[in-house]
Amino acid sequence: TATQPRQPELKTPLPGPKTQAIMERDAQHLSTSYMRPYPFVPDHGEGVWLTDVDGNTMLDFFAGIAVSTTGHAHPHVVKAVQEQVTKFSHVCLTDYPQEITTSLAERLVKHVEKPGEKWRVFFGNSGAEAVEAAIKLARNHTGRTHVISTLGSFHGRTYGAITLTGSKTKYKRGFGPLLPNVTHVPYPNPFRPPLGSTPETCGQAVIDHIESLFVGVIPADEVAAIIIEPMQGEGGYIVPPADFLPKLRALCDKYGIVLIFDEVQAGMGRSGKMFSFQHFDVQPDIITLAKGIASGLPISAMLAKESVMTWPVGSHGSTFGGNPVAAAAAHATLDLLEGEVGHPGCGKSLMDNAASVGAYIMDELRKMQAEFPFLGDVRGAGLFIGLEFVKPDGSPDGKLRDRASLAMFERGLLNLDCGEAVIRISPPLILTREEAETGLKIMREALASL
Ligand code: PMP
Repeated sequence: TATQPRQPELKTPLPGPKTQAIMERDAQHLSTSYMRPYPFVPDHGEGVWLTDVDGNTMLDFFAGIAVSTTGHAHPHVVKAVQEQVTKFSHVCLTDYPQEITTSLAERLVKHVEKPGEKWRVFFGNSGAEAVEAAIKLARNHTGRTHVISTLGSFHGRTYGAITLTGSKTKYKRGFGPLLPNVTHVPYPNPFRPPLGSTPETCGQAVIDHIESLFVGVIPADEVAAIIIEPMQGEGGYIVPPADFLPKLRALCDKYGIVLIFDEVQAGMGRSGKMFSFQHFDVQPDIITLAKGIASGLPISAMLAKESVMTWPVGSHGSTFGGNPVAAAAAHATLDLLEGEVGHPGCGKSLMDNAASVGAYIMDELRKMQAEFPFLGDVRGAGLFIGLEFVKPDGSPDGKLRDRASLAMFERGLLNLDCGEAVIRISPPLILTREEAETGLKIMREALASL
């Protein structure tokens, strides 16, 4: 007889007593800036499952914001971390080389280098640090100061990164003055085309808009970089039209501008390819990576073409950046992403698995749109999927999204919002088709309850 697929196990009522007690202490002692969308306090995880301190087991459809690519406590990652931590856990990459990070850099650039092109890597600890490194390098390399970013973007919380961030005003309110010389332009969102364009023309419209700024607003020869998420994450899991990024590349070439792709959220196999820009015929000058790179250990990377990485010795560094234990976790993560090490039920590689299971989830969600007219849009690539809630007039319905998110949680599905009215589906990339079915069933029940 076939074994039943694993299901969430919930002890009602939620939250349980231990969860409540920790949440109360958390509210007493931790930063007032933290958000708590629903009561969940993790105790341990296994694969795509997380168990809270009261013994409730939930299916994880957000993976710690697209971080836990190999799921929780993957044995291959655990072993790599254990082995490295018994050797040494810190010396300092800024001052001394260490083989584990050298080989990690060699592995990462293999995924981006084209014939005749060489890339180099700077390691940090977080996405924001990778973004800071990218804008510092672009300014240093070009001798120009201006940076163009997009509305709806998220690039991190440090001063440079929040300045570039173009989504919620709460990230900036009361923190200014920010970095000077940053301009935001619309993101080509085919579901809500900006600048009076259509889904088909929104890419060209944004290109024309940027070029119009070069006439009278920002001199093009003062623009160091354009930074963009090739698929926009926090802004609502948005995929631009196919012509947009190649046209942006051409624009940057025309004016000598460095093109930075922020792959912190959509990169590292999540979209079904190693980097989300690889769905398009385009090559950037700089790439920022973090989140999914090391299955939850903190490490980030800024990859740059050798021709762009011209900053002098000692001009940039980091005490913890490129930490060897995190690097070991990154190697183990890459083993699974590339398929050098297999994961049961996930075919050749986790990247391929993300592509096929993600396509299945999107198909099923699109079928659900017929049943639930408030599901305005289903979009994404691989296991980078956005589900946008709309009012009958088509405008975003953030309140309904919040109710849907809570209804899913109450049925044992961990999920996270993004954008104005979107639920992001960003599970671990080890999600099997069966586990996806379980998640979809919970989503349907939750949506039917609204
Ligand atoms: N860039 C993007 C695209 C992100 O999604 C995020 C985090 N949500 C960041 C940068 C910042 O990363 P971190 O929180 O690790 O600093």
